[in-house]
Amino acid sequence: MSEYIRRILLDELSTIRIVCKSCGAAHEMKVEQVRSLPHPTKCVCCGFEFRSAMFGGIEPDAYDMLASAIQGLKAIRQCRFEFVLPAEEDKPATQS
Ligand SMILES: [Zn+2]
Repeated sequence: MSEYIRRILLDELSTIRIVCKSCGAAHEMKVEQVRSLPHPTKCVCCGFEFRSAMFGGIEPDAYDMLASAIQGLKAIRQCRFEFVLPAEEDKPATQS
């Protein structure tokens, strides 16, 4: 059985999308801006509150941790990091 995957290099990761689970609206930010931009705490489209179980709410700490992790992994030159995604034909069927 063949396996189809997509690999995305960490260096290719340039934009992060925050997608509202209520209405599907997306807010995008460049990876370099993760630390500096004011981050959304609710959907600008429908007002749905974004919450994090870890922090009790979207806190700057979560964005700082993400920015630090990306920056730290990119600084390691002895290997490369890839995100592996299943190809469309490997994803489980969803019911709608
Ligand atoms: Zn929304």
